[in-house]
Amino acid sequence: MNPETVRKQTVSKVKRVVLKLGSSVVTSESGLDETAIEGIVDDVCRYKRLGKEFIIVSSGAIAAGVRRLDLKEGARTIPQKQAAASVGQTRLMAAYEEAFGKHGYRVGQMLLTRDDLIHRNRYLNARNTLMTLLGWNVTPIINENDTVMVEEIKLGDNDNLSALVATLAEVDLLLTLTDQEGFMDCDPQTNPDACLIPLVEELTPDIMKLAEGSTSRVGRGGMASKLEAATKAGRFGIPMIIARGKIPHIIPRVMEGELCGTLILPAKERISARKHWMRYNLVPEGAVRVDEGAARALARGGVSLLPVGVIEVEGHFEHGAAVRVKDPSGKDVALGLVNYSSEELGKIKGRQAFEIDWILGYRTSDEAIHADNLVLMET
Ligand code: GLU
Repeated sequence: MNPETVRKQTVSKVKRVVLKLGSSVVTSESGLDETAIEGIVDDVCRYKRLGKEFIIVSSGAIAAGVRRLDLKEGARTIPQKQAAASVGQTRLMAAYEEAFGKHGYRVGQMLLTRDDLIHRNRYLNARNTLMTLLGWNVTPIINENDTVMVEEIKLGDNDNLSALVATLAEVDLLLTLTDQEGFMDCDPQTNPDACLIPLVEELTPDIMKLAEGSTSRVGRGGMASKLEAATKAGRFGIPMIIARGKIPHIIPRVMEGELCGTLILPAKERISARKHWMRYNLVPEGAVRVDEGAARALARGGVSLLPVGVIEVEGHFEHGAAVRVKDPSGKDVALGLVNYSSEELGKIKGRQAFEIDWILGYRTSDEAIHADNLVLMET
């Protein structure tokens, strides 16, 4: 595929964008970079006037807070990061409010955690808020709620958050601005000859390997987490562009189809909104290991997992829990919502559906996991 043609075709269809701004884009050595924010917002507003919609996922709260508080050693512990974020977040919002205000536009803040996305109701509420803001032509500014983050509810980094928001709002493009030119063929920090890859047609294992171990100096996510974000967005049919945020007028350049940064095309095989939510938001509470035949059948897609195919149950979970489905070698092949608890499954594994009544005294369902509640892992 010709990268220039593909780029032009991709951006020509874009109406709604998630714009992810990394800490390195919105902060500088001396704290929040209001000039950079203003420049970006000026460009965003130009496109808003043309009818495009933007949702901004902005990092920078912790970095801005650290500098505001003049914490010489930075924020090391989790409570320090949380406290720094609470100081920095208000600064961040003030900067966006002011920059959008100059153009007569308003902004709304949304702070999310994994918990908000795991619970289907809260997830749908977040979606309703987002859609209402867009309907009012208010630009949502989203960040992870760092002040309450603990391991269990942490989304990890804003790359992940931006991909989840992109699917939540069903956008046409995830545009990630960072401190790198885009996706390079090797780590530019250690190799000065690194070359930009302008177009990634498919996120193959080889491509994923190229990004391993890269981290950002200022924010939390490196190139690996950006490619993970591309995978998540891509399974929902959303392309992603990664570009350097500090290039002047990078947004119009991208929006006009100039060949800057890297375009990652979405996967050919897409999954539904509900299955996407299951795959990328639910935290598995246990696992079931299935036999070779069941693993092969599941891989073809559209089939349920029957108790007869289950050979082992791992962990303790209740009916309705999310569990990993593993093949005989232990590799994750799918994720699903179980119709039976771990205790029940332990009793009916390897058995035919008609035997369930005899063993348990009741039969809630013939399937251990129904096809509608099963999503395959990306290969
Ligand atoms: N939420 C963090 C902040 O605003 C940044 C996380 C990230 O860089 O991925 O400081």
